[in-house]
Amino acid sequence: DQQNYAKTTFEPHLLIFPIPFQGPVNCALKLAELLCLSGINVTFLNTDHIHRPLLRHTDVLSRFNRYPNFQFETIPDGVEHEKPVSGDKFMEVMAAVDAVSKPVFREMMVSGRFSRSSERPVTVMIPDACFSFAVDIAKETSIPVVCFETVSPCCLWTSYLNLPTLIEAGDVKGSDLDQLITSVPGTEHIIRRRDLASFCRSDDLSNPVIDLIVKEARSVPQAQGLIINTFEELDGLILPHMRKLCPNIYTIGPLHSLHKAKLLAADTTLMSQETTFTNSVWKEDRSCLTWLDKHLPKSVLYVSIGSLATMTVEQLLEIWHGVVNSEKPFLWVRRPGSITGGYDESLVPKELLERTKEIGCIVDWAPQEDVLGHRAVGGFLTHSGWNSTIESIVEGVPMICWPYFVDQQVNSRFVEKVWKVGVDMKDTCDRLIVEKAVRDLMDKKQETFTQSANTWKILAKEAIREFGSSSLHVGRLIDDIRAMTS
Ligand code: UDP
Repeated sequence: DQQNYAKTTFEPHLLIFPIPFQGPVNCALKLAELLCLSGINVTFLNTDHIHRPLLRHTDVLSRFNRYPNFQFETIPDGVEHEKPVSGDKFMEVMAAVDAVSKPVFREMMVSGRFSRSSERPVTVMIPDACFSFAVDIAKETSIPVVCFETVSPCCLWTSYLNLPTLIEAGDVKGSDLDQLITSVPGTEHIIRRRDLASFCRSDDLSNPVIDLIVKEARSVPQAQGLIINTFEELDGLILPHMRKLCPNIYTIGPLHSLHKAKLLAADTTLMSQETTFTNSVWKEDRSCLTWLDKHLPKSVLYVSIGSLATMTVEQLLEIWHGVVNSEKPFLWVRRPGSITGGYDESLVPKELLERTKEIGCIVDWAPQEDVLGHRAVGGFLTHSGWNSTIESIVEGVPMICWPYFVDQQVNSRFVEKVWKVGVDMKDTCDRLIVEKAVRDLMDKKQETFTQSANTWKILAKEAIREFGSSSLHVGRLIDDIRAMTS
């Protein structure tokens, strides 16, 4: 209508461009929605292969259809497969984006022929921090750019922004995984070589991931700002150091909680509906919530390795035995395709299957935020993806960390040593260790873990209140986007 048109025409036109993986797209959509609520026009740019499954996700589409100031755009990426990819394909997708999407994106931005349906050219860009080419194109076209990093700040600091320093100090190569890494300010007594991002274990410095991250380390400080999914207290150890390199940091986390709170405040009718606030591209099996309803408070272990990580059959069996032997009821997400080489039930001992029928519930994909918020869940065996970690922190659920790759190695160390909300099981996969970790987390040391988990839970909730630090940072981001536009 007339009023909306007038409003949207004079607002900034923001372009959000996430890397094409489920976690980053999910986060970027939440950020997009927060900014839409303030009236800013948002174009959300997806590459084709990640957009296709989203098109079938009618909940998400209808939520975004409500905003006259929001539109999706897509560009090709040359990725053939339709299914969201697993971790080992990460670099293949990034290489395809570099070869296919980057030139198309550049041409769109340089020619200003970006948006079919919007009258205004793009006035501010928010690309994923990993798209260093977007920062170059922003400079070339004089469009202000604020990077959005969806990996954890502890990884961003220790292993991304400091990667050139690590390489120079000779800290990347080296066989002693227990050696403390002293070249990164702020974490000298915490991070061992094994706790750096997984690619830092590579002996080959010409590894394409290292190249990608070194480029990111150089480009992020050149942007006008950096948005990260954390809150001030949670990363108080490293934020002062990060701000020396990137002075304009917006800490807007826990983003999923802030997003939900702002959405509910904007439309109170959502509260009474069974609304899903996630933008998950897979269908969630909500029946596990009914299964959880039948269990005692804090009695269930939730097990999930997220959307990209995989495990071998041997690892599956070790973890499975450990969990079953701990005697705790468990809810386990077995994402199709997450077992390398495929899942063959004939390899699983009969007793394990029988015991699982008695105390377990297995689903393909769960409504994770609701699961972690369920009173029955008392522990989370996780791959330590950043979203999973922060979702667990918000709900005060202690974690057993079994990191797979990228930032997960750093997150799991911070979970154990900095936030003290769990145990880090990295580089091991043994049924006895798993069983002990579950018993420690949910029995023996439960009180200690719950105490620190509750402290972070309270601080996280404070951060997203009306005048909490993360709410203020989002407000400042909106003001800055407007100031960059005028
Ligand atoms: N997730 C979910 N259902 C599941 C497992 C995971 O909705 O069964 C969501 C989870 O809530 C989180 C995301 O998928 O938001 C996983 O992101 P994370 O950063 O933890 O790991 P990644 O999948 O990127 O490795």
